[in-house]
Amino acid sequence: MADETGLVTADDNVGWQFDNTYSKLPNVFFAPAKPATVRAPRLAILNHRLADELGLDVGRLSAETVAALFAGQILPSGSQPIAQAYAGHQFGNFTMLGDGRAILLGEHRTPTGRLVDIQLKGAGQTHFSRRGDGRAALGPMLREYLISEAMFALGIPTTRSLAVVTTGEPVYRESSLPGAILTRVAASHIRVGTFEYFAARHDEANLRVLADYAINRHYPEVVDAPNRYLEFFQAVVDRQASLIARWQLVGFIHGVMNTDNMAISGETIDYGPCAFMNAYRVDTVFSSIDRTGRYAYGNQPAIAQWNQARFAETLLPMLDSDQEKAVQIGLEVLGQYPALFEQYWLSGMREKLGMQSAEAGDLELVQSLLAWMQKSHADFTNTFRALSSDDAMSGELSGDPDFAAWHSQWQQRLGREGRPITLLYASMRAVNPAVIPRNHKVEEALAAAEDRDDLSVLHRLLEVLATPYQAGPNLTPYQEIPPDDCSYRTFCGT
Ligand code: AMP
Ligand code: MG
Repeated sequence: MADETGLVTADDNVGWQFDNTYSKLPNVFFAPAKPATVRAPRLAILNHRLADELGLDVGRLSAETVAALFAGQILPSGSQPIAQAYAGHQFGNFTMLGDGRAILLGEHRTPTGRLVDIQLKGAGQTHFSRRGDGRAALGPMLREYLISEAMFALGIPTTRSLAVVTTGEPVYRESSLPGAILTRVAASHIRVGTFEYFAARHDEANLRVLADYAINRHYPEVVDAPNRYLEFFQAVVDRQASLIARWQLVGFIHGVMNTDNMAISGETIDYGPCAFMNAYRVDTVFSSIDRTGRYAYGNQPAIAQWNQARFAETLLPMLDSDQEKAVQIGLEVLGQYPALFEQYWLSGMREKLGMQSAEAGDLELVQSLLAWMQKSHADFTNTFRALSSDDAMSGELSGDPDFAAWHSQWQQRLGREGRPITLLYASMRAVNPAVIPRNHKVEEALAAAEDRDDLSVLHRLLEVLATPYQAGPNLTPYQEIPPDDCSYRTFCGT
């Protein structure tokens, strides 16, 4: 069966329930797109658990059909492929962008009624590709698959990864690499940069269309608010504050927090040069292109506020017809962000340290631990995990007098909780991961896949990362800290 684009549509019963809304917006929001024909699609990895959640029965298809489906060679019935228009501030500089290597197949309705974007990343050129080839390489797509699924397992809002297929065609970067396509599932792909796109065109009417669409889709609770755009802005700032706090609490460094990589839904999106911090250092940067450390670990909360300021600028005409008043309103909401962030972060830190009540000195107690960690290059993840049991003072840390002093102060604080310490430790283990995607383990898994076509290392890593808070046997290799972590570099997944 061929549709008007000439692509074959699946006469399937896989369970797709496309209910497209974005493609019904005015034409300027997107450009029709068509996944490129690829030579020899082959499935690299399929997320069976996510497929189940989405109500997809992929098991009934042959291996060839599954590969063709996730390579965009067979379109699910009901899909309507488009590339979305957006702009963005990249490292501070404004640019018009758009999906240059991603194609939105449409929105799928899950069995629980949720509407999710189904997007193919690396499926070929679109109207927005500029000089790019629209393609992606296997390593970066597996990397996004792995890290996004790890983030999900950690309980952090994120886009998901449904499948990666190889295309059987090379992509040319610094060298020739195997081409691949990732199927990404997201609450939506509306970015701060989507708003900037219309603001740059002085298209107020469509800014409102976009805001109303985003409100309906992600913030239905403010639809009927008397000042819906203000409440929408506040709600986005709130979700962003909560999200960035979650990143800080697990040591996640996004690496490229451009405004086009900040989703209005509050999900983590666009896994490029991201990586998890090992030793606690606020200036940790892994991305090779982030020479000034703009997106360093310790800068993430402030950069999120900077991005929200760019978002606020696009909303001004909706906040008040009097521009001065609108700016006042925008600044007021932005001004609430630091306190909001600290509230989320401190309550997360309290949980990480087993403090279920709140005391005035808690912030100081947390800060003095972090200062000690920074000074002694303590591993962020392992330190909090060690604190989550009696291990901390029986291990090597006990020999450090500064740590011992902090530990005894903290134990006194926990004593005032009036609950058995074992219960407090158990609550800590539920929020302090035993395992994170350590950079060297990620590289090892990707290298096996790329160099030897061996995905078993990746599967094992995914399995370990699926239950990050559980203590299990044989976890040690996943908890070890690489010796030369400071020189570790990540690259943009283009
Ligand atoms: P990213 O670094 O993935 O956030 O992408 C930034 C912008 O560059 C987006 O507009 C992408 O669509 C575009 N882009 C990245 N890689 C490619 C590529 N290989 N071909 C075309 N456009 C690309
Ligand atoms: Mg991006």
